[in-house]
Amino acid sequence: MSRYAWDKLNGLSPYVPGEQPRDRKYIKLNTNENPYFTSERAIAQVTRDMLDNLKLYSDPECTRLVRAIARYYGVDEECVLVTNGSDEALAFCFQAYCRGGVCFADVTYGFYNVFADMYDCPAEHIALEDDFTIDPQKYFCCGRTVVIANPNAQTGIALGGERLESIISSNSRNIVIVDQAYADFSDFNAIPLTKKYGNLVTVNTFSKSRSLAGARVGYVIAAPELIADLKKIKYSFHPYNVNTLSAALAAGTMEDDEYFHETVAKICATRARLSEGLKKLGFQVLPSSANFVLARRMGVSGWELYNYLRSNGILVRHFDDERIDDFIRITVGTDEEVHVLLKTLAKMTEENI
Ligand SMILES: *Cc1c(COP(=O)(O)O)cnc(C)c1O
Repeated sequence: MSRYAWDKLNGLSPYVPGEQPRDRKYIKLNTNENPYFTSERAIAQVTRDMLDNLKLYSDPECTRLVRAIARYYGVDEECVLVTNGSDEALAFCFQAYCRGGVCFADVTYGFYNVFADMYDCPAEHIALEDDFTIDPQKYFCCGRTVVIANPNAQTGIALGGERLESIISSNSRNIVIVDQAYADFSDFNAIPLTKKYGNLVTVNTFSKSRSLAGARVGYVIAAPELIADLKKIKYSFHPYNVNTLSAALAAGTMEDDEYFHETVAKICATRARLSEGLKKLGFQVLPSSANFVLARRMGVSGWELYNYLRSNGILVRHFDDERIDDFIRITVGTDEEVHVLLKTLAKMTEENI
């Protein structure tokens, strides 16, 4: 740290992204990326004219993409805000709604703590149950902003629609932010509830289910007054937050629904194979509604599993967080990748490690 920097920077612990190694080719199952191509129709949006238009600033309102999203979900265009990945959407939400206090699960997406620190939001951590599920009652009438990842990050466990709705309706005096990064892999999406609840903010992304992690596109769907709050922050920070090419690619994926459903279904089928395979090898696997599974094998530490796999060319994620430090988080890749992973873990068991 330089002596010129803001004092508070010293105390901040930034988010630590999963490895993106360039040294050798790994089977990469560590950052919940989608293994499939985004969509031919999306790629076809990027024309030579569009590339030439990069000399102009991007459309600050993302008009075409906002229209595509609004049409897809049957909501008004004033209910949609497009952001630079959903991490930016979350940052806007923390700035707008969390300074008076925020609560979220003790095991969830690591960025919530980072934003709470960064924007001076007093944070309360609500413990997951012993089986890593969320007890909705612990979130009733919180008196502060609630953030819920559904399905939850790291565990993959989803809270059913009715139980999620009970949290939203019991918190009518404060905002409930639902982070839906993995919702497309589950059987519930909270977007329709934004028409019924003026306190609900849904945060969504093209990074996982739509294979555009590198394009950085996210979006918020909420009541128009809430979108107006968040736009005020966006225009006070970065009006051109989404670039022309990424916005066109994202809109393209929404016009290719058949392909989208096909790839999501493939990932869900591979998830079932992965979970079964791990159980046969003696692993405990949490029931996942996301594109990853959290699993552990008694008697082996998370670090040992992670290191063994890494030395065999497979990257998974391990967390130091004490409640889950004996687990590894495995992204659902292709069937072939999952096959190699299971074979490697079987070899590890035979070698008695
Ligand atoms: C991946 C992820 C995000 C961030 O996604 P972006 O790439 O920034 O859109 C947000 N929340 C959760 C829970 C995630 O897993």
